[in-house]
Amino acid sequence: MRALVTGAAGFIGSHLAEALLDAGHELVALDAFTDYYDPARKRENAAALDVLEADLLAADLDGLLAGVDAVYHLAGQPGVRASFGPGFEHYVSRNVHASGRLFEAAARRGARVVYASSSSIYGDAESYPTSEETVPRPISPYGVTKLCVEHLAYAHSRTAGLDAVGVRYFTVYGPRQRPDMAFTPMLEALDAGAPFRLFGDGSVSRSFTYVADAVAGTIAAMERGRPGEIYNLGGGEESSLTDAIALAERVAGRRLRVERHGAAVGDVRRTRADVAKAERELGWRPTTPLADGAAGPVGLGRW
Ligand code: NAD
Repeated sequence: MRALVTGAAGFIGSHLAEALLDAGHELVALDAFTDYYDPARKRENAAALDVLEADLLAADLDGLLAGVDAVYHLAGQPGVRASFGPGFEHYVSRNVHASGRLFEAAARRGARVVYASSSSIYGDAESYPTSEETVPRPISPYGVTKLCVEHLAYAHSRTAGLDAVGVRYFTVYGPRQRPDMAFTPMLEALDAGAPFRLFGDGSVSRSFTYVADAVAGTIAAMERGRPGEIYNLGGGEESSLTDAIALAERVAGRRLRVERHGAAVGDVRRTRADVAKAERELGWRPTTPLADGAAGPVGLGRW
């Protein structure tokens, strides 16, 4: 199968692209190397890949999709905090507008799409563990744009026959994690003996998801997802940030210097994924406990 991976120089996209190559797929890997975080990190992420530098907002997508049967759409502007204020325009263009262009081209081509959505669409969810049936109420502009991407996929499936499956990732961690997420700065601070900036009191909790599990679920969604459906891909345990810090300290054998800051606006209090639907329909469930996922790379400075 020939697949297009968008966001292939990003954290999850680079792991996904490598897994697809390992499985023998032909690949078109694309990334715009945006400066949401240092593009040098993205060049490192993509070191084992042949990534075409192109922006979904401008690229000739019909040309790129020639011969492509499967599209993994991971490109986007991530992060909750930066989606407030003037940065919001990037969330609209890189999430909403770029996805709309890609969905239209994929529908014309008849290619199946798996696209990245987020647990952020739930906001402070009405129930935990949170199933896909829960009413989405994002509390950040980022979450709003990801929910918009889901609705765009639906609109193009109804009007143009787009075959699209959504995956809602829950706080993915592992090697190459984005530097704006908790683990990367935590591990880098431990390694350098530098302070770690903790937002809030550490009681926020997450269904942390190991990146290899997220990748396996994404491929399962392409292979077995029902057209139009959306699946939670979340880790099996819920852990507070305080517990995650304690775990990292245990593994590193060192104390973390914590610098406390006020709670970050737009961060939800907790996430806990109900993955029964993914288990039933995709035959997928997370297999890496946080303790195992966090253990290996600590001390390397960068995962
Ligand atoms: P990332 O920022 O590392 O990767 C996204 C990549 O998309 C970047 O390399 C960026 O340069 C590229 N990109 C952005 N706009 C583009 C455009 N217009 N054209 C081409 N490339 C473009 O982020 P990530 O953590 O790997 O996340 C991947 C996807 O998963 C994103 O859609 C994100 O919203 C979603 N997601 C991630 C998490 C997580 O925990 N990491 C959780 C929920 C959802």
